[in-house]
Amino acid sequence: MSYDVVIAGASVAGLFCAREIAKSGHSVLVLEEDFEIGTPEHCGGLVSASGLQDLGIIPSTKTLDSPIQRARLTSPGGKILDLDAKKQNVVVINRREFDKQIAHQAQKNGAEIRVKTSLKEFKDGKANTGAGTIDYKILVDARGIASIINRDRTGTLQSAQYEIYADWIQKGLVEVDFDVQKYPGFFAWVIPAGNGMGKVGVAGKGINAVSAIEKYLESKGKHSIIRKVFAPIWVNGPLDNFVQENTVVVGDAAGQAKPTTAGGIYSCGAGGVLAGKAISNYLESKNRKDLESYQTQWNQKFGKEFEKQIFARKMLERLDNTTIDSIFSAITPEMLKDMSDNDDFDFHTTAIVKMLGLKGSLKVAQSIFGGEIRKLLG
Ligand SMILES: Cc1cc2nc3c(=O)[nH]c(=O)nc-3n(C[C@H](O)[C@H](O)[C@H](O)COP(=O)(O)OP(=O)(O)OC[C@H]3O[C@@H](n4cnc5c(N)ncnc54)[C@H](O)[C@@H]3O)c2cc1C
Repeated sequence: MSYDVVIAGASVAGLFCAREIAKSGHSVLVLEEDFEIGTPEHCGGLVSASGLQDLGIIPSTKTLDSPIQRARLTSPGGKILDLDAKKQNVVVINRREFDKQIAHQAQKNGAEIRVKTSLKEFKDGKANTGAGTIDYKILVDARGIASIINRDRTGTLQSAQYEIYADWIQKGLVEVDFDVQKYPGFFAWVIPAGNGMGKVGVAGKGINAVSAIEKYLESKGKHSIIRKVFAPIWVNGPLDNFVQENTVVVGDAAGQAKPTTAGGIYSCGAGGVLAGKAISNYLESKNRKDLESYQTQWNQKFGKEFEKQIFARKMLERLDNTTIDSIFSAITPEMLKDMSDNDDFDFHTTAIVKMLGLKGSLKVAQSIFGGEIRKLLG
């Protein structure tokens, strides 16, 4: 058995990559170790409509859960900031359906997908898989967080996310709760799928995710849990090398999720698209520069923003609850309106800069972080 490209992992990154390679007429096989595409789901499903458009996919009615209208940020002391999120055009998608939708796009272009078939080992153009040995010209590693954790454990946080039914979940309202003691370096969240149903999660450095989420839910009110997910998230930014010899790494496996929120549907999907295009060009030209252009293009799109996000997250790790409360108290209605009107869900460090008052009179962060703060402003 032989294919131009074998892709391990049939989620956003692997499937978008397969779609692009198949579109250019090359043979591509996608291997998925689980029984079903999109399952088990481990995602909140929050994504920008502009990101989806850039990825070349319009969510079907089955895929789209609901648009987001508002975001509510709560400080440790209970100070609330309500942002009007309509202009950000963010939606909640159902990943079980979304991943199948991409699989269908890839299959229509000519990709072959096999579930319950895992990649075991690969070397010298031969992949040892659950379906025997397969020859390839390029191997794409789209195996998600497990792949990057094998290389480096330092950039992960523990997370827990429960799918719940609860009367207090409001359709269109995303909630983010900060408390550095309970969720060091991260936060707790509520992502609505509709009225009375959604996903609630927590993540943080060194936390016991089970007890943290149980306590968070207790504080929110009555609920019924219908599904539990425990998964590490990667917050250290991209690998230095996405391409090594004839192996190409994409998505979470390449560290392409946002360092601030670990959101990766758009940036990991874009990794798949850019890698797929670069691989297709390389298969035609045999010029390695074409293959390596994948990393350059992904960095051009996300590199600078991700560097700032890494810094912003490290700042959050160093703030104490009192300082976060004082930052929240200093935000004026004008600043909130400015953030609601002008900020971008995918490139959100401008909003963080505004919250910290770096260009205004508050300058909280400047007093704490001194000269380092230039990293956020640059
Ligand atoms: C709790 C939680 C909530 C999240 N919420 C959001 C959100 O709201 N918005 C957002 O944008 N992002 C969110 N993310 C991140 C998002 O889910 C990931 O960034 C995204 O799914 C990464 O896609 P991927 O294709 O790189 O990897 P994955 O989605 O992890 O897929 C990897 C695939 O590879 C398969 N695989 C693994 N090993 C093998 C093997 N040996 N052989 C074959 N197949 C294999 C796996 O079964 C899996 O299907 C969340 C993540 C978590 C953990």
